[in-house]
Amino acid sequence: MDEKTCESCKHYIQHYIRIENKYSEIALGHCVYPRVKSRDRDTKACEHYTDKGHGK
Ligand code: SF4
Repeated sequence: MDEKTCESCKHYIQHYIRIENKYSEIALGHCVYPRVKSRDRDTKACEHYTDKGHGK
C-alpha cells in the first residue's frame, strides 16, 4: 500500500507559526508544482510526487 504524503515530497512547502519568537510546524503548507496550491502534510501524494531525498 502506498503511504506517501505531501510531507515527504520536495514540492511541499511547510508552514510555520511563531509564538514568542519560537517557530513551530503546523499541519498546513502548500505545493509549488506544477502550480501553487494549498496542501497539508497528510495529503495523499499525487502523480507529481518527488521524494525529498532523491533529487529529481
Ligand atoms: S507535487 Fe503532489 S505530492 Fe508533491 S507536494 Fe504537490 S500535491 Fe503533494
